Amino acid sequence: MNLILLGAPGAGKGTQAETICGRLHIPAISTGNIIREALKSGTEMGKKAQSFMDKGELVPDEVVIGIVKDRLQQDDCKNGFVLDGFPRTIPQAEALDKMDVTIDKVIEIHVPDEQIVARMSGRRVCADCGASYHMLYKKPKVAGKCNFCGGALVQRTDDRPETVRARLKEYHTKTEPLKDYYQKQGKLAVVEGQEEVADTSRLTLAAIEA
Ligand code: AMP
Repeated sequence: MNLILLGAPGAGKGTQAETICGRLHIPAISTGNIIREALKSGTEMGKKAQSFMDKGELVPDEVVIGIVKDRLQQDDCKNGFVLDGFPRTIPQAEALDKMDVTIDKVIEIHVPDEQIVARMSGRRVCADCGASYHMLYKKPKVAGKCNFCGGALVQRTDDRPETVRARLKEYHTKTEPLKDYYQKQGKLAVVEGQEEVADTSRLTLAAIEA
């Protein structure tokens, strides 16, 4: 199954992507994680993306389209994939339509803006493997440490409130029109983000299986 997770930054797409990936045994592809990796290793692409990311802006379409095109050609995507954070603009969606894949379903995880800003302050990610946590809703087993690799949990610099507001603005102007785009293709399902991660996961899996 080929899936897309849509949603504002901080709506919990990454966590839902991990759930789907565990249930359906398909890879989760997060363009944000790929860009952060590139940034850490100091590649040309990482350097290009950094200034946009730091301001909470989207990186240029051609950069992310190239990333996704390469990633979808890898062997582990043959039986399906979950795209987390791509597409984020209409040109990205159009480019995806031209790649050799058919999207089966698009799930929007919907969380109101005011809840997003509150949630973001508690969000932490593993500095080593990128797994996501929340100080209230998705605590690690050992405080400050990743459940999977033991890496240190840190706050993303772009999770600061002023950057979050810029990211939400980008979401509403550039990404939200994708709801209509996929609605017209009959592929959109909306899941209301719940307080408990497990409840959102249940609704997400039900939407996929519907
Ligand atoms: P995320 O981890 O998905 O919230 O992404 C973090 C940041 O990476 C975003 O704020 C953008 O700067 C950049 N980014 C990730 N995915 C995309 C995309 N599909 N298009 C443009 N920029 C992206």
